[in-house]
Amino acid sequence: MDVPIDDLLESVGSFLDREVPFDAVEAWDQDHRTPYDFLPRLANLGLFGIPFPAHYGGYDAPWTVVSHVQEQLAHRWYALGSILSRVVAFGGMSLTEYGSEAQRETHLPDLISGKRFFTLALSEPDAGSDVGAVRTRARRSDRGWVVTGRKTWISDAQGASHLVTVVRTDAHSSGTKGLSVLLIPSDAQGVSMSVIPKVGNNSMPSFDIGFDDVEVPEDALMGTEGHGMSHLSSTLHYSRASVASTTVGAAQRAVDVARQHSLERIQFGRALATNQVIRHRLVDMQIKVDLARLTARHLAHLISTGADSRRWSAIGKTVGTETLQFVTDHGMQILASAGYTVESPMQRIWRDARLFSFGEGSNEIQRELIARHMGIGAPL
Ligand SMILES: Cc1cc2nc3c(=O)[nH]c(=O)nc-3n(C[C@H](O)[C@H](O)[C@H](O)COP(=O)(O)OP(=O)(O)OC[C@H]3O[C@@H](n4cnc5c(N)ncnc54)[C@H](O)[C@@H]3O)c2cc1C
Repeated sequence: MDVPIDDLLESVGSFLDREVPFDAVEAWDQDHRTPYDFLPRLANLGLFGIPFPAHYGGYDAPWTVVSHVQEQLAHRWYALGSILSRVVAFGGMSLTEYGSEAQRETHLPDLISGKRFFTLALSEPDAGSDVGAVRTRARRSDRGWVVTGRKTWISDAQGASHLVTVVRTDAHSSGTKGLSVLLIPSDAQGVSMSVIPKVGNNSMPSFDIGFDDVEVPEDALMGTEGHGMSHLSSTLHYSRASVASTTVGAAQRAVDVARQHSLERIQFGRALATNQVIRHRLVDMQIKVDLARLTARHLAHLISTGADSRRWSAIGKTVGTETLQFVTDHGMQILASAGYTVESPMQRIWRDARLFSFGEGSNEIQRELIARHMGIGAPL
C-alpha cells in the first residue's frame, strides 16, 4: 500500500465521521442493523485488500495496517471491525493460507472489492470448545461431497456468501483427526438457517444452521482432506489477532465515554472526575487499554514479519477481551444510571463485551494453548 498509514487512518476517520456518526450507532444497535451495506464503501477505502497480493487486487501491506484500521473501526462501531475480520481473516487469510489457487482466483477479488464475505461454521450443539466433537459429516459422492449435520451460533451466516465449514470427512475417525474444511455457499440447496435471539452484538446476527444432504463439488474442499484441525488453527490465528485489535478499539471508546461523563456529571457541586477514586479508576482503565494496544501491535508486528506468533495471538485475544470486560464493567459503575439506558454506548459495549472472552476459542482454551508454549500443557 503506497498510502502512508497516517493518511489511511485519516481517510477512515473522515469516512466514519461522515457516514457512521457516533450518535447513530445506538439506534442502529437497537434496530439490529447489520453493517453489510457498508462493504462496498469500506472496499473503496482499500481496507479489504490490505494484506493481499496486488495480483488479486490487494495492496501487499503488512498486518500492522490491518491492526490499526480494525482498532479504528471498532472504536466507532464494533460491527465494522468485525465485518473486516470476516472478509480479511475468515475469508482472505483462509484462502491465502490453505485455499487452492483456483479458490483464490475465484473469491479473493470479490472479497477485496466488498462483494462478499465468509464466516466460520465450526460450533455445533455438542462441539463448542471441544472441536474434536464435530459431527457434521461430509461423505463423498459421484459429484463431490454431501454434507449432513448442524452448526450453531454462526455469526452473520445469512449475509455471508460462503461458510468456511468444519466437517468430518473420515467417518471412522474421532477427535480432531479426520476433520476437513469445505467452502459451502450459504444459499446452497439443503442449507436452512434460523436466528438465535441473544443479549448483545445485535448488529452481528447469530444462526443455527441445518445441512440436509447439501451437495457441493469436489473443489469445495479447502486445503488437504483430513487436515481440518491445522487449517482451522490457521484461520483462528488471524481471527484472534483481529479480536485483539477490535477489542482495543471498543475498550478505548468505553474509556472515552467514561472520561467525558466524569468531566460533565456534577454531584455534590463538583464534577465526578474531581474525586480521586473516580480519577484513579479511569487511569487504571486507560493503563489496561494502552497495554492491550501494545500487545495487539506486537502481535501484528510478529505476523507482519512472518515470525511464529501463535502464542501471541492467544495472549492478544485474552488480554484484549479481558481488558474490554474490565473497562466496560468499571465504565458502567462510573456512568451508573446514565449507562443503564439503551441510549448509552456504554451499555452496548458492556453487553457486547461479554461474548469475547468465551467466543472464538474461550480464554480458558487460550490459557491452555499458552501453557503448551510454556511446556506445561496437558491434552485438552
Ligand atoms: C454471539 C456468538 C457468536 C458466535 N459466533 C460463532 C461463529 O461465527 N462461528 C462458530 O463456529 N462459533 C461461533 N460461536 C460459538 C463460540 O465459538 C462458542 O460459544 C465457544 O467456542 C465456546 O463454546 P461453548 O459456548 O459451547 O462453551 P463450552 O465449550 O460448553 O464451555 C463452557 C465453559 O467451560 C470452559 N471449558 C470447556 N472445556 C474446558 C477445558 N478443557 N478446560 C477448561 N475450561 C473449559 C469454557 O472455557 C467455557 O468457559 C459464537 C457464540 C456466540 C455466543
